[in-house]
Formats: sequence, structure tokens, C-alpha cells
Amino acid sequence: MELIAPRIAEIPPSLTLSITSQAKAMKEEGKDVCSFGAGEPDYDTPDHIKEAAIEALNDGHTKYTPSSGLLELREAIAAKFLADNNLEYDSSQIIVNCGAKHSCFNAILATCGPGDEVIIPAPYWLSYPEMVRMVGADPVIIETKESDGWKLTAEDFENAMSPRTKMIIINSPGNPTGAVYTREELAAIGEVAASEDILILSDEIYEKLVYDEAEHVSIASLSEELKGLTMTVNGFSKCYSMTGWRLGYVAAPEEIAKAIATIQSHSTSNPTSFAQYGGLAALQGDQQFVTDMREEYDMRRQYMLGRLNSINNVSVVEPKGAFYFLVNISKTGISSVNLAEKLLSRYGVAVVPGIAFGDDKTIRFSYACGLDVIKNGLDRFEEFCKGH
Ligand code: PMP
Repeated sequence: MELIAPRIAEIPPSLTLSITSQAKAMKEEGKDVCSFGAGEPDYDTPDHIKEAAIEALNDGHTKYTPSSGLLELREAIAAKFLADNNLEYDSSQIIVNCGAKHSCFNAILATCGPGDEVIIPAPYWLSYPEMVRMVGADPVIIETKESDGWKLTAEDFENAMSPRTKMIIINSPGNPTGAVYTREELAAIGEVAASEDILILSDEIYEKLVYDEAEHVSIASLSEELKGLTMTVNGFSKCYSMTGWRLGYVAAPEEIAKAIATIQSHSTSNPTSFAQYGGLAALQGDQQFVTDMREEYDMRRQYMLGRLNSINNVSVVEPKGAFYFLVNISKTGISSVNLAEKLLSRYGVAVVPGIAFGDDKTIRFSYACGLDVIKNGLDRFEEFCKGH
């Protein structure tokens, strides 16, 4: 008898988490490692958010909350959507989940199943295809081009559609590419989706981290028709540095929101009660933290861009969002896993191989680490590239 269900047996564990833990283990052994593996901000959660959660605990908010999240929090999220994204949602259309990863999974589980195809532009956040497989649907991976800034074009989307297409996943600002879709690009993609009533999962978790002239646009805000097809996912992990709190949310058309609420009521129930009070404080409190973090990341981004552009044999597209650089290593002729392994074992530099994101010609550098690490790590990377 097979212990593991076939649907699950073939799903690999998250590669980004394994590289980060390998680098961590080397550090603990006393090795000098420059880690560019992080998928989370290198900041502590702001104090006023922590204090709100502590206060909630002390006030006895230690019991179940409504399964979809506290009404107060869902109302604050609705206010955020209106203020930041020009999107009007009723609190009944918002479900607070245990992290944006959970929001994505619930949204896919509610809408997709066997026989359905989900279009995912590559390089992608590595959990999307596995989530699609876990619900028995089929991921359809569409490679984007470096020359298109790693962004899916409406034409690519149209060509990838089949009668089985149920959903497309858009992640802007994107992980691992840092790509930010413009309003026009989203409108063109939206037009294709609307023409065939294709659902859109819009993962906007890096919303607050956009640079230069880039503007974050929610695809659901472009028309009522698109709002009726879109599930907008966001959360607290990246913009408030709350990855450990496990708090995310999704806003969806009424019928889908209800289905997601049902799934949650029979699986996890509510996200942690006192974490939700922290989330409320994050949304309603001072936003200076977000501004400061964005400025710091922008400074690191500019430094890295200058350095990476001057290194032989590699190329980058300037990322306009998130905190990653996707570096094209195809000229080295080495696969992304081999290169990442060599870099870590010989030079003490941890990066994530692009194969994890569906692209073996790239590696991902996160700049959610100190500038000293960035400088030292890029010196080593430059040295490595001289020999390849
Ligand atoms: N979406 C993307 C694109 C991400 O990069 C991440 C975190 N790595 C998530 C969702 C999940 O965030 P959370 O910690 O809120 O589950």
C-alpha cells in the first residue's frame, strides 16, 4: 500500500526553504556565508504592532474568532482596499487567512479542480504550480522573456488558452523577477481574461515595495467586469515584516468568498486571534515603517543594479518591485542548481537556483539583507564569474 496519496507524492518540498536552511546550517558551523536567499524582510515587526498583540493576549482575546477573521479587521482591510487600490469590497467578501500562501491555496481550492488548467507565467513563485497540482488541476506554464522584462504579454496569454483554462495567476510586483506590470499591461491581460471569463488570482503581497516611476495597480480595479473575475490576495508578511505571524487575506466576488469561507471553516478556522489584533494595528497605525523600509530597499536595489551590470557573463533586468534580482547566468553554461551549489560551497554565497521558479538559466538574489552582506557577497560573486 502506498502511504502517500499520488496527488501529493510527486510534489517536491520548497527549494527556497531548503537553500536558506543549508546556508543557516553553514553559518551555525561558524562558516562565513553571505546569504541572498531570504524571502522575508530583514526587519523586526514594528513595536506598535507587537504591543497590540500583547495587549490582545492580556485582554483575554485568546479564543476562537469568526472563522473568516474578526469583523473589525475585515472592515479595516476593506478600508485599505478602498484607500490604496480604489477597490470597494464589503467585509463579507474578505477572508483573513493564515498567511498569503494560505490565501492563494484557499482561492485555488475554491475554484479549480480536475480538468481545469491554470496559466502561470514563469519565472513564478514556486508554490503556485504545486498548489494547482494539489487540488487536482493542471498548471500551464508560460515562459516570459527577459527582453519583455519577465512579463507575460496579452498575446502569450491568448495563445496559451484552451477550452479548459479556468484561471490565470498574476503576481505583481513579482517574486522572483521584481517585475511590476503597468496599468496598460494589466488592462491588456484583463481584456483577454474577460473575453473568456477566465478567473484571475492577483497576488499583490509586494504591493508596497515599488520603485522609481513604477506604480502598483490592482487588476480588479480596472473594471467591474474584472473585479467580478478576480481574487485579490495580499497580506502582512512583507510590508509590515510579519512573516512569522501568518496573516494574509483575500478579497473575492461574493460567491467565491463564500466558498473560501466554507473551506476555511472546515480546515484551519480563524487565523490566530491575537495575531489578528496585530494586523489591525498594522493597518490602522503609523505607516512610516513601510516608507522607511521601502527607501532602504531602494538604496540596496540601486547599489546592486550598478554592481550586477558591471559583472561579466551575467545580465539583469532592472527590478521595479519586491526585493529580488533575477540574474541571467546562461552565458556561464552551468545549470542554476550547480551554480548555486558551487557558489555556496566554494564562495560562501547563498542564492536560490532559478529552476525552483521554472527557469534554469537564472539565479535569484534577495536584497533583504544588510548592505555589508550585499557588498561582500557581490565581491565574491564577481570573483566567481571571472572564472566562468
Ligand atoms: N506570494 C508571494 C509571491 C510570496 O513571495 C510569498 C512569500 N514568499 C507569499 C505569497 C506568501 O506570503 P505569506 O508569508 O503571507 O504566506
